[in-house]
Amino acid sequence: MIAFGVPNGQALEKKSDYIRLIKEFGAKPITDELLKRFKHVHPLLILRHFYAHRDLDVYLDYHDEGLEVSIVSGRGPSNYMHIGHLMLFRFVKWLQDELNSYVYIPLSNDEKYVFGKTRDLDEAYKYAIDNALDIIALGFSEKRTRIFISTRISEIYELSVRISRYLTYNTVRATFGLNDSTNVGVVFYAAVQAAHILLPTIKEGQPVLVPIAIDQDPYMRLTRDVAERLELMKPAAIYSKYVRGLTGEPMSASKPETSIFTVDGPEDIKRKIWNALTGGQPTVREQRKLGGEPEKCVVYEWLRIFVYKDVKDARRHYDACRSGELICGQCKRMLAEKLIQFLEEHRRRKREAIKKLDRYFIHEVRIPDELHIT
Ligand code: SF4
Repeated sequence: MIAFGVPNGQALEKKSDYIRLIKEFGAKPITDELLKRFKHVHPLLILRHFYAHRDLDVYLDYHDEGLEVSIVSGRGPSNYMHIGHLMLFRFVKWLQDELNSYVYIPLSNDEKYVFGKTRDLDEAYKYAIDNALDIIALGFSEKRTRIFISTRISEIYELSVRISRYLTYNTVRATFGLNDSTNVGVVFYAAVQAAHILLPTIKEGQPVLVPIAIDQDPYMRLTRDVAERLELMKPAAIYSKYVRGLTGEPMSASKPETSIFTVDGPEDIKRKIWNALTGGQPTVREQRKLGGEPEKCVVYEWLRIFVYKDVKDARRHYDACRSGELICGQCKRMLAEKLIQFLEEHRRRKREAIKKLDRYFIHEVRIPDELHIT
């Protein structure tokens, strides 16, 4: 997931960290009271998949007072996007509709290059355009969405230089986990990432909200400290939990079996889901008698997060698994059908997005020859 992914960061560890983020690091839980401030509450908020925040209440106060607000949600373009990325951006699109907000989407080709995740900047450019088309296909507002490739706008460089004076090497080392052989691009990238987040505030005076996974909190804290030193509004954040990959490991582009990618065809999707980790019993007979364990089941987790639009449907599925009414083959078939259908429609909209690509970018953009769109 997805937004500001920095591979060498000191990631917080798994589920106990959901609590630590609140208890030790001072984030606040998403409460029912806070959700009443939205007109239509997104299922991922009801499910508390997005479960914690920093200053979301303050951000909503600004919005309610009539101030234009922005959301910043970045993407490191080192590969094709997978279903987890798409769901995060779908949530961002919902936020845009709900708050009539601007959305800034930095495509950090620089990050992927300095962290050694792409061969060169051209390769990162190709993925940046492909990823941008996936994002546009989700239906973001043309007028209120600003996409850019990080190295292509001079404002980011200027702002990064300004910010770099307020970041010490020790702070960056503690946040990004550097060692003696780390290249200086990684060190400077801390300032670049803060520049991505603070751009709407500096340029337009708009409060910013950043939806991110909890392991990105150290970078968020760093940026909020910088904002304070620059006497700017501190960016707000809303934090999601992890979604496990199909094999039970984290979703990763380097392990294709862990996720479904936008370029996967129906047969790939069926095969990956057929091999997914479930909480089912070894035989159908035992499953009917004992029921399954949806808490352990990735197929259930994906249906709950990616497919069901109503939390009551997810609850019914949970009960049907527990009682033995469902068997794993049915759930896998259902998940595969839904994702095949979703991705077919998504790819159709992605092909259409090519015609309007330049309307979303704030700098000149060209379609690379080797772009792979099925
Ligand atoms: Fe998962 Fe469905 Fe099997 Fe239950 S029956 S363990 S929800 S795949």
